[in-house]
Amino acid sequence: MQFFEFTEEQEMLRKVVRDFAKSEVAPNAADWDEEDRCPAELFPLLGELGINGIFAPEEFGGTGLGHVERAICLEEISRYSGGLGIALMTHQLAIAAILYYGNEEQKSKYLPDLCSGKRIGGLSVTEPGGGSDFIGQKATGEEKDGNWLINGRKCFITNSSVADIDIVTVRTGEDEKGRVQLTAFVLDQDTSGRSVGRKEHKLGLRGSVTGDVIYNNAEVESDRILKGLGAGAQIAMASISEVGRAGMAAICTGILRGCLEESIKFSKERVLYGKPISKLQGIQFILAENKLDYDTASLLLYRAAAMKDAGKSCATEFAMAKLHATEAAVNAAKRTMDLMGGYGIINEYPVGRFMRDALASIPSGGTSAIQKIIIAASVLK
Ligand SMILES: Cc1cc2nc3c(=O)[nH]c(=O)nc-3n(C[C@H](O)[C@H](O)[C@H](O)COP(=O)(O)OP(=O)(O)OC[C@H]3O[C@@H](n4cnc5c(N)ncnc54)[C@H](O)[C@@H]3O)c2cc1C
Repeated sequence: MQFFEFTEEQEMLRKVVRDFAKSEVAPNAADWDEEDRCPAELFPLLGELGINGIFAPEEFGGTGLGHVERAICLEEISRYSGGLGIALMTHQLAIAAILYYGNEEQKSKYLPDLCSGKRIGGLSVTEPGGGSDFIGQKATGEEKDGNWLINGRKCFITNSSVADIDIVTVRTGEDEKGRVQLTAFVLDQDTSGRSVGRKEHKLGLRGSVTGDVIYNNAEVESDRILKGLGAGAQIAMASISEVGRAGMAAICTGILRGCLEESIKFSKERVLYGKPISKLQGIQFILAENKLDYDTASLLLYRAAAMKDAGKSCATEFAMAKLHATEAAVNAAKRTMDLMGGYGIINEYPVGRFMRDALASIPSGGTSAIQKIIIAASVLK
């Protein structure tokens, strides 16, 4: 067993992204939240920094690094804005789906623009019938005269109205054993018959758009199919398990660091009984718990990300990282609000936003119950 530490290059990357987050994200995060506006204009800048396609090879416009580096970037950005964090992480879900399941032509066609941030991506899987009932999706794809007609409605879709590239899974029939066959298609934003529906007014992760995407005889050619007919379940599952949950774990690890740093700062500045409250043992217990939650979330996250980079199976590890980080972030935000007394509920401080963002992170990528089912299945195997 080796001692876990980041390489010098990873520490340098962290510093660059932290500087970016402090100058471009921190000063605007509260406004994006208040206005519920996705700062889509930042994506080209994220592209210049090599963040969008950090795990994609350079030949497709990526940076040629891995998922540990991706988690570092998402943690640093989400330290200040979970909303931008989830918009970026979902954009990277689309990059991952095309990178891991697209053919050479599809990769060359879509990845350079997605990595540069010229175009934004999204992944449309969830339907009103229930996100947990993944295989019960009702949207359909039907072949007609060599093209495909897509019909149905997807809901809770991050980047719904800002995405230029939409990866959607639909039913395209049944396999020989009568099981539902899902297929993944890559659609352009302006595909005829595709439109964006209602935008949700969310409690948290505001500053990312979440809404419906509607397909009404949306017509595409068969070269828009990723990997092949019937590969949609595998593509969506692997993307959500190893890229989506990884992203949510990294976002909440960033929120946990925010709680830790804000609690240290506030407790050193707030004076009661003639001394900073950091001298009170009850307050020190809160700081200790915030530190413990941040470190355990980091260890689970970066272990899973290192396993992904090493090509090992890591779905259970990401389920654990996501479950722990999201639930711990809610607890840490509540604890930090308690530590701050009345100031905890004042919007000048970011901690109330951390609480809302952490709560909104729990269902995204599968609820806590679903993560527990995955973990339990693994230990019972
Ligand atoms: C901020 C945000 C962003 C999102 N972005 C996207 C996106 O970009 N693309 C996308 O496709 N989806 C996205 N989603 C949807 C997300 O994946 C779903 O919300 C999630 O899968 C849960 O589905 P549901 O909301 O329909 O809840 P349901 O599936 O209806 O679950 C309802 C309740 O039943 C429980 N439950 C379900 N099954 C079981 C079981 N077997 N045992 C015990 N309890 C169970 C759940 O834990 C929950 O408490 C996003 C969601 C949010 C909140």
